[in-house]
Amino acid sequence: MTIKVKNPIVEMDGDEMTRIIWQSIKDKLIRPFLDIDLKYFDLGMKHRDDTNDTVTIDAAEAIKTFGIGVKCATITPNAARVTEYDLKQQWKSPNGTIRSILDGTVFRKPIIIKNIPPGVVAWKKPIIIGRHAYGDIYKNSELVIDGPGTAEIIFTPAAGGEKKTVLIHNFKGPGVVMGTHNTEKSIRSFALACINYALSEKVDIWFGAKDTISKQYHGFFRDVFAEEVEKVKDKIQAAGIQYRFMLIDDAVAQVMKSSGGMLWACMNYDGDVMSDMVASGFGSLGLMTSVLVSPDGKFEFEAAHGTVMRHYYEHLKGNPTSTNSVASIFAWTGAIAKRGELDNTPEVVNFASTLEEVVINTVEDGIMTKDLMLIAEPKVEKYALTEEFIDVVAERLKAKLTA
Ligand code: NAP
Ligand code: MG
Repeated sequence: MTIKVKNPIVEMDGDEMTRIIWQSIKDKLIRPFLDIDLKYFDLGMKHRDDTNDTVTIDAAEAIKTFGIGVKCATITPNAARVTEYDLKQQWKSPNGTIRSILDGTVFRKPIIIKNIPPGVVAWKKPIIIGRHAYGDIYKNSELVIDGPGTAEIIFTPAAGGEKKTVLIHNFKGPGVVMGTHNTEKSIRSFALACINYALSEKVDIWFGAKDTISKQYHGFFRDVFAEEVEKVKDKIQAAGIQYRFMLIDDAVAQVMKSSGGMLWACMNYDGDVMSDMVASGFGSLGLMTSVLVSPDGKFEFEAAHGTVMRHYYEHLKGNPTSTNSVASIFAWTGAIAKRGELDNTPEVVNFASTLEEVVINTVEDGIMTKDLMLIAEPKVEKYALTEEFIDVVAERLKAKLTA
């Protein structure tokens, strides 16, 4: 007996070790239990190259149509990959392409397991990072100044009228200068995505910036975010959650002391840096999930880690591997639960939470891959191989669903 899923999910296949795990998850943990229409797009490196990367755009468009996607990790090609896969060109990051088509914000959330204690002992609940993924230093212009002179910001209105000029610095000697920007539209979508995510997960929102020093730039972020919060303050109150704006230094200090359980909305650079801090503070990349949320409520789920290339090359040599599949499994359960929620099919949501429970219980019973074994408390004697772990989860899931 399989559970019927009303509407489709967009499935995006990927590369290397995660592609192998992906197939096993689908064959052993999804297909036997769910009657589901998967709209399949192969984002494997070879097929992206064969289609001149149109497959990535098609997949993103499909997510717009069907509302929910689940994605395997993919190679972002560099020069070495161009040679390795004999690529026509150094294609862009699929995640970047999908993110710009959906205009989304990325939220990263760790999976909490009792016997995998976070390095930061105070952390008991997930700290979710929402990173604004547009502008600031990631779209900057910079200049090395080689001698005395004047650096200015000049704004020329397209509609005509007077130029605005602001002095940056009167250089007496060599130095360096940088210009950054952001747009009101992008900051608003970021705020909106954070609010929607926090409402759906029922967690407080913390937003930190350095508005005491950058009164206009950071102050602009603070004000736009606050306006979006104000628009939905009834919903926020009804959900029993709170919005807090803090100085970024204060936010960092408070996060370290907190027990977690909040969404930490970050400006672009803060999110880049702090998501790595939070990921290593929680223990393993193999336990970090990621979801892209668009302002109009489309969702794309994935693991935060990459294609685990080193393990793949061991696998190709015929050596056994112990690659953690937990974050990839949770990408599937995240997508399935959201599908069930939007379709109003509690049995589908229930399947997703059962699978998550089985995975967590399996690790808590001491069956885990090597990356987790190294940090488990209490210690475990041996680790499971890649397929062994998935097989145990499959057996236990079957037992639980037929019980
Ligand atoms: P990675 O795939 O995240 O792996 C880096 C290292 O972290 C691995 O060698 C492994 O350490 C450990 N690790 C990560 N995930 C693991 C898991 N599930 N189980 C066990 N160990 C895990 O990063 P990378 O090797 O730098 O990148 C490989 C490719 O992934 C690149 O082509 C990159 O473009 C791509 N990438 C894609 C995404 C995405 O699609 N979202 C994200 C990041 C990177 P040990 O070697 O010590 O065992
Ligand atoms: Mg980073």
